[in-house]
Amino acid sequence: MRIPLIAGNWKMNGSLALIEDFGNAFSRTSFLSNAIDIAVIPPFLYLANADEAFEGTPVQIGAQTLYGEASGAFTGAVSASMLKEFGVHYVLVGHSERRTLFKEDDAAILAQARAAIDEGIVPILCVGETLEERDENRFDDVVLGQLDAVMKGLSEEQRRQLVVAYEPVWAIGTGRTATPEQAQEVHASLRARLRHYDENLADNMRLLYGGSMKPANAQELLSQADIDGGLIGGASLKPDDFIAICHAA
Ligand code: PGA
Repeated sequence: MRIPLIAGNWKMNGSLALIEDFGNAFSRTSFLSNAIDIAVIPPFLYLANADEAFEGTPVQIGAQTLYGEASGAFTGAVSASMLKEFGVHYVLVGHSERRTLFKEDDAAILAQARAAIDEGIVPILCVGETLEERDENRFDDVVLGQLDAVMKGLSEEQRRQLVVAYEPVWAIGTGRTATPEQAQEVHASLRARLRHYDENLADNMRLLYGGSMKPANAQELLSQADIDGGLIGGASLKPDDFIAICHAA
């Protein structure tokens, strides 16, 4: 009932040549249409090229962040309407690197989610605990707190547009993946929390796992009951690996 979503977060990596490689690889691949949603999320500058290179394939483009205001004196920022103009379908909000390195807090992340939804762009809200928070057994509180901070600020209608990605910070780019059981446990808590808002919403919202997902571990993670896709960093930079993960889904 929930269509899996595989999204590749390139972070500050890639080039025009890599966009072209992916475009060629996607055109050669036959994906099961309607069985899976696929997104590539390159740096802003490459969005237009990616949109063109992936034309005729089922792959949609996403952005890595946005600013929560409509327009104005916000040097360096990009708005939801600008993303919309460039065919952007998804946008990451609250990635742990944005929370830590760029000091984005829950209020900023909520504003971003709202701005995206108002433009018809699907926000992928990233939540996840640090190693310290896991060791202190606080992961449920942290992750559910990050979820509530956004859910509480959205209307019922807006909530239905959201995708959530659970990304334990200790598993991002470390090669250390959460075990399928660890990931499923948090996904089940997230879904249980969503039931407090709306049963229907909880059944329909896609919950992705992210953190060192690769072809070798994708199938096991993606076969867990509450894992509906993946947010892939490192392994999304090689066409073969990324496509292998899409096939695993
Ligand atoms: P990773 O990154 O797959 O390289 O661990 C995931 C992410 O940060 O989205």
